[in-house]
Amino acid sequence: MPTPIKLSSRNDYESFLEKFDTFLLDCDGVLWHGNTLLPGVREVLALLRQKGKRLIFVTNNSAKSRASYSLKFKKLNIEVNENEIFCSAYIAAYYLKNILKFPKEKKIYVIGESGITEELDLEGIRSCGSSEDDDGKDFDFNDIHPDPTVGAVLCGLDTRINYKKIAKAFNYLYSNPDCLFLLTNDDSTIPYNGTLYPGTGSLVAPLIKSLNRNPDAVMGKPNKPMMDCITNEFQLDVERTCMIGDRLNTDIQFGINGKLKTLLVLTGISKEHDILIKNAPIVPDYYLPSLGDFSELCK
Ligand code: PLP
Ligand code: CA
Repeated sequence: MPTPIKLSSRNDYESFLEKFDTFLLDCDGVLWHGNTLLPGVREVLALLRQKGKRLIFVTNNSAKSRASYSLKFKKLNIEVNENEIFCSAYIAAYYLKNILKFPKEKKIYVIGESGITEELDLEGIRSCGSSEDDDGKDFDFNDIHPDPTVGAVLCGLDTRINYKKIAKAFNYLYSNPDCLFLLTNDDSTIPYNGTLYPGTGSLVAPLIKSLNRNPDAVMGKPNKPMMDCITNEFQLDVERTCMIGDRLNTDIQFGINGKLKTLLVLTGISKEHDILIKNAPIVPDYYLPSLGDFSELCK
């Protein structure tokens, strides 16, 4: 495994940027932490646009739709076009419609938040579950009432997950082996305010255990549906495209799977130690303390 190259001077930044005409950028941990934009990021994105680079934003966060991400960028005063945003909720809707050709008369049972239901609605895919099953009542086994039209269960992050949602999802999948089991993403953890909390990959552990079944497909990085969706909308010259991320097993693996070059920034989950240890399993081509470091070129 080659040693990653650390970018550390103005010259390094310049020659690195010249190598690429498209950048795929992870969002949380690269551009911002939650709602706080990281230092220098706005300037660097403006610089990349000014240099004529194509920017594509790639996030595993399933809680927001493309439209609400677009609003978030605008509030942070960052130029974006909605079709440059690839969030896992959008990928799920795209995949169901275009790859699985999910039948119009069937429904998706959703464990997840409004980002997912908004994207499904936009693709004309019917869904149930989600906020409908957000009740604070004691669970009643007689209150499952399965909908016979459900043909897939789709799980993303749901901060209101409860026994009822897990039991309903289990029931759909257990009673019908043809019912598809899909995840927006499989992140074990999510970052918040300098610490980590369970992510979608951890929330679905009870389903995987009780069904003794793995999901049929996972939409987000490092998996193929995310890349297929991007390459369907944009032609990527893999030699001149770089994936920038903060997490080795999602972002950097995604770039590697897509045969892209990769840059790890150290403002998020993965640390320098993770790539410099002997036999590190996932290593980027390049690394840099933070995306904002490129703002040196704005001076
Ligand atoms: N999923 C959720 C619910 C999140 O809140 C986050 C980050 O905040 C992620 C996934 C990871 O997002 P990204 O791929 O932009 O790092
Ligand atoms: Ca990230």
